[in-house]
Amino acid sequence: MGNTLGCKPAVIPFTYLGVPVGANMKLKKNWAPIVEKFHNKLSSWKAKNLSMGGRLTLTKAVLGSLPSFFFSLLVAPNGVIGKLEKIIRKFLWGGTEEKRKINWVAWEKVVAPKNMGGLGLGSLKAVNLSLIVKWWWRLRTEENTLWGKVIKGIHNIRNKASNYMASSSIPGVWKRIVGAGDELKKNRSQYIRNYRKEGTLRSQALTDSVLIDWTHDVPIKVNCFICRASMDRIPTNCALQKRGILTGSSRCEYCETEDENTSHALIKCPLAQNVWQWVFHWCNISAPMTGDIGEKLTFIKDWGNCSRKRSNLLAICYSTMWSIWRVRCDRIFKKLRCSPATVADNVISIVFTWIKHRRKKCHYQWTQWCINPFDYL
Ligand SMILES: [Zn+2]
Repeated sequence: MGNTLGCKPAVIPFTYLGVPVGANMKLKKNWAPIVEKFHNKLSSWKAKNLSMGGRLTLTKAVLGSLPSFFFSLLVAPNGVIGKLEKIIRKFLWGGTEEKRKINWVAWEKVVAPKNMGGLGLGSLKAVNLSLIVKWWWRLRTEENTLWGKVIKGIHNIRNKASNYMASSSIPGVWKRIVGAGDELKKNRSQYIRNYRKEGTLRSQALTDSVLIDWTHDVPIKVNCFICRASMDRIPTNCALQKRGILTGSSRCEYCETEDENTSHALIKCPLAQNVWQWVFHWCNISAPMTGDIGEKLTFIKDWGNCSRKRSNLLAICYSTMWSIWRVRCDRIFKKLRCSPATVADNVISIVFTWIKHRRKKCHYQWTQWCINPFDYL
């Protein structure tokens, strides 16, 4: 018959349009090709060659393409979700099969939205559930669709107002979709609680750091760095000592007077203070030179009345912290020395380049920018 119709005969299970058909997708082993695909796309050699921002972007791209094939039709078992999340975690922090790396930010903060203080990756389980329930909703709301008529015919659904959405004696994808919808309806409060836990930050976590504004004016890697710094999750000597990596002193290698924590490295250390002085002098802003990272980020968020000027200051301050951190790393790992005035000069030119190329219509002139970054706004 296959030959007559011009089709190739196949045996169940087989793959159609990239989706496995006829396999029991409740079993973890049947998800192996999908896990493998995920693994290949987020491989360790790519992680080694990408910044944190690049790794975050690639992970989001992979997460965005996989659901359209699998997650929109198949309910993934918890074990599979756990396995996929493990691959993402390893990739995001640059780990390999042999070597584990520190996961600097808790998973619930990685998946939490940016406006809630997270890195905005999104929860796999929440994505899967919402895509699955979409079908259940479409069958109830969209009338006269061909696929709807087929499902209704197979499962003998006569009344759209009826709660009865699938025949219990007919196993398959549709039964599992209805099962997910019914479960969501029954345990709505429990799901909301779980989603809060996975998809957003818990109230405790919200209070321990300043919520930062992500800006398109600087690269994602800089936004990521500031987000991590606001949570005190960057590899300072204090953080490394706390995690048992550094066994020696946690003193700052630059000034050798205080312990190196996030606020000291980026704000209080003489190197940082000098750079901030240069940068604020250029901006013609009188700002406190002391305080911790939270105070500095709050000062930027609340500064002035003009949102356009504030967005320029945001890009300048984020780039200043990023540049200070890079100079500190270069000094430790490459034994390079750089004066605060040079760091400030780099900040002026790097922010100009980023803003000029990242904003759609930007008419800034270099000479004007060097005199004052807010003059022509
Ligand atoms: Zn210091």
